[in-house]
Amino acid sequence: MKILISEYIPESGINRMRKIAEVEYNPDLWRNKQELINKIIDADALVVRNQTIVDQEILDAGKKLKVIGRLGVGLDNINLLAAKQRNVKIVSAKNANSVSVAEYVMAVILTASRSIIQAGEDVKKGNWNRKLFTGNEIYGKTLGLIGTGEIGHRLAKRAIAFGMKVIGYDPYIREFDYPFSETGITKVELAEVLKESDFVSIHVPLTNETRNLLSTKEFNLMKKNAIIINTSRGGIVDESALFKAVESGQIAGAYLDVLENEPVEKDYFLLNSSKITVTPHIAGLTEESQERITNIISDEIMKVLEGKESLFLVSSDF
Ligand code: NAD
Repeated sequence: MKILISEYIPESGINRMRKIAEVEYNPDLWRNKQELINKIIDADALVVRNQTIVDQEILDAGKKLKVIGRLGVGLDNINLLAAKQRNVKIVSAKNANSVSVAEYVMAVILTASRSIIQAGEDVKKGNWNRKLFTGNEIYGKTLGLIGTGEIGHRLAKRAIAFGMKVIGYDPYIREFDYPFSETGITKVELAEVLKESDFVSIHVPLTNETRNLLSTKEFNLMKKNAIIINTSRGGIVDESALFKAVESGQIAGAYLDVLENEPVEKDYFLLNSSKITVTPHIAGLTEESQERITNIISDEIMKVLEGKESLFLVSSDF
């Protein structure tokens, strides 16, 4: 059996998979579609992150393909319908980096409220500007969640521990479900999240329904001091409208870990705003989450190839 890996994976995962199959590993394979097509012809399994576009053409070429392992959560880079039609199973590492993303958002909220790095750099320049670096408490502030799934509710628990009020919009989660009944998130409509929140954090998948979910109309509902944090997927926030809203002072700023097209060049228009911080899709990326994800996906791919049950199968119920 052959397992093809088209993006970066820690050595431990490769060693685990080598126990049952021949492993072909090229962390840059995702960049070259033709080479990927050539290599997938005799592969039983494909392991990807979020950069490999697994479209109809790739799936058609993968005649022997039985399973795709997604090192992470989002599935928008995989044509799920085409995979289902070809009876290719998909396993993903649900939850494995949720804590990392939740901690990243807490770090952003704290960073936006206290200028620790800037103050430290200012002192190195010989200054002692106490008044300039007066911060804000996050205690008593409102965090609004769009999407209260695995990441959203973990973030809520952490924010509540800091004394924040947490409200959330998620039409697919009911009042009695865990995120609302057990973690302290108050269920509200989207407009209320936008009107009430000091920080709006997005945790939904990219779907037809969520594409451009936040644009000019939504920014106009928000408080002037509000900050948007997007760690979910590019395309959910309308980037041109966001730039205008931030630069005109309609909202205070944005922290974006994900963009509509990644990576971007240094002259990308969003990088010209001092009120927008872009990070290179790292919210879920920690040593701990990588270890967890690698182990889960290696083990689950092997189970599928050996004809055993996997609890990490992505539902094909669509
Ligand atoms: P999840 O499936 O557990 O939760 C998503 C929630 O969004 C669900 O509760 C669902 O009901 C809700 N939802 C769906 N459509 C909605 C809509 N139109 N309006 C409001 N809510 C809606 O997913 P998760 O594990 O919490 O991940 C959330 C997002 O974070 C995904 O897009 C994933 O790709 C992304 N992610 C990013 C990173 C990173 O490194 N930046 C890491 C992990 C996950």
